[in-house]
Amino acid sequence: MRIKTTVLSIIERTKDTWSFRFTKPEGFKYLPGQYMFVSVPNNGGLLTKPLSISSSPHEDFLEVTKRLTGHDFSNAMAGLHVGDEVYIDGPHGSFTFMGEYSKVGMLAGGIGITPLISMIKYCTHAGIHSNIILLYGNRSEDNIPFFEELAQLSKENKNFKVFHTLSRAGEAWKGRRGHVDSEMIKEFIPDYGGRVFYVSGPPGLVKDCAQHLRSLGVSEERIKTENFTGY
Ligand SMILES: Cc1cc2nc3c(=O)[nH]c(=O)nc-3n(C[C@H](O)[C@H](O)[C@H](O)COP(=O)(O)OP(=O)(O)OC[C@H]3O[C@@H](n4cnc5c(N)ncnc54)[C@H](O)[C@@H]3O)c2cc1C
Repeated sequence: MRIKTTVLSIIERTKDTWSFRFTKPEGFKYLPGQYMFVSVPNNGGLLTKPLSISSSPHEDFLEVTKRLTGHDFSNAMAGLHVGDEVYIDGPHGSFTFMGEYSKVGMLAGGIGITPLISMIKYCTHAGIHSNIILLYGNRSEDNIPFFEELAQLSKENKNFKVFHTLSRAGEAWKGRRGHVDSEMIKEFIPDYGGRVFYVSGPPGLVKDCAQHLRSLGVSEERIKTENFTGY
């Protein structure tokens, strides 16, 4: 069922990744990691896409975060202003985490962070004791969505750690370079055999990361994926 809501604020996470905060309609309940369909006005009609919810259920607004691609839906989102009306339909999906497992690994690339940051914010706020290690791949230093927020969450939550890797880092970058791969998993999540994994992002990345986990012997039922089809 489509529900009308309003743009509260727009936050530039990186140059091409923006968050859109909407009024949370009364009674709208969701689990961390779920997505919703967002419909945006365009040429007298509506354009609709599924977007993961990047806010946490404890927050009093609804947030989605869109990678700006220059294509139609993206342009319609980028053209929104505070006070504009959009429609949402949801929540949907079963890619959720609320502390069901004591040890979790999260693998994401770029925009794939959206359902995961919802889970991490939720667990931090709720004081969940699950141990979470996030391996996060991006292109360059200036293109890491939620970099500050993740650093802050790792300070607030002693059970959460994030490790970044960049595929096209500048010379000053002291961290890891390259993609999230088996070597990175072995180095930063040495107890990977005892964890449940959450993998999200564009389909190519999800396929590669799931394959790395399989190659390390992680069983299929311990690999949960969210495919951002449409890229
Ligand atoms: C469960 C789920 C969760 C998702 N969560 C997120 C999220 O949190 N954030 C997010 O950004 N995305 C998310 N997505 C993906 C999202 O739904 C869109 O499909 C994606 O962001 C692409 O948007 P767009 O603006 O490029 O769409 P469109 O304008 O429809 O374009 C889609 C794709 O079609 C191609 N295309 C379109 N027009 C042209 C053209 N004129 N020339 C050439 N190629 C063209 C391009 O490859 C383009 O990327 C999610 C998807 C799913 C299924």
